[in-house]
Amino acid sequence: MNNWKHNHILDLSTFSLDDYQTVLELTTRFKDVHKSSSRKLPALQGRLITNLFFEPSTRTRTSFELAAKRLSADVQNFSVSASSLSKGETPLDTILTYISMGADILIIRHESTNVPADLANYVDKNNINTSILNAGDGYHSHPSQGLLDLYTLATFFNPSEPSTNSLINKRITIVGDILHSRVARSNLWSLTACGADVTLCGPSSLLPNEFIDFVLNPPPGQKIDPINKRGSISIERSLKHALKNADAVMTLRLQKERMKQNMLTDLETYHETYGITHQSLKWCEKKVPVLHPGPVNRGIEISSQLVEDNSINLISKQVENGIPTRMALLYLLGLNKNN
Ligand code: ASP
Repeated sequence: MNNWKHNHILDLSTFSLDDYQTVLELTTRFKDVHKSSSRKLPALQGRLITNLFFEPSTRTRTSFELAAKRLSADVQNFSVSASSLSKGETPLDTILTYISMGADILIIRHESTNVPADLANYVDKNNINTSILNAGDGYHSHPSQGLLDLYTLATFFNPSEPSTNSLINKRITIVGDILHSRVARSNLWSLTACGADVTLCGPSSLLPNEFIDFVLNPPPGQKIDPINKRGSISIERSLKHALKNADAVMTLRLQKERMKQNMLTDLETYHETYGITHQSLKWCEKKVPVLHPGPVNRGIEISSQLVEDNSINLISKQVENGIPTRMALLYLLGLNKNN
């Protein structure tokens, strides 16, 4: 924990193996807090955590709120429809208003890539002691989702001691709309950091060939990759081949709201070609778990039957693990705040 250096959590490209391990261990520590007699911990008592979601959210916003409450923090929730945005206030002025109210941690989701990073620069330049936590910016990054997926997979492979080692040489297949997915991007950083080999699968309109080099160059502004040796990334257009050797499968929603033009001719054909179903899972050599970050489009990227089959899908585990994972992140950022 002493090695934790991040004042903001913006993107998993900056995470070291120690960072991942710290988050996984804290998640395990926090997982059963709500089952204790007090149901919460006093760790962040009196800290102010602000949830600023400029895009819709079900799971992420509510689980950040619960995570903050389980650490005894005060929580403020911003809702676009009830705000002065409708009176013409700019998003920046809205954000600055919440910062002026003394937010210790500001959790932000925005449709534009880099809004959280710009905000982090702003607070640093102005010596404001607010930590920025990215809850999803455009198609760029969704660190808490990447970390809860990592925890879910590490627990699946090693239930007694989930750690960064649990993923070494595991083959994870990610299927679907990779191009518009911040979840896929965050998972690419975290899974390859922990030594997993990732196969990406989808049509070229939703999965351009450039993704093969995704982790080779650190993002602009970042000088080095904190990970010495990453797992590999490969691209496979045929679902049958992509599933053959998989140890786990992650399927992603078609993100129509982020598509600049209609990129698919027909959803039925998409489901037949790339849909994860009991039938397509027969191409796997063994029984493998299926993850989906939600919200699910039943009958498009995944069949309704599979969504309801908890013996195969880990969807409710992902939601469950989201709370202690987010507690871990709030705890680590909150440690730097004085009472
Ligand atoms: N909930 C995830 C996100 O906010 C995945 C999705 O929307 O498809 O990116």
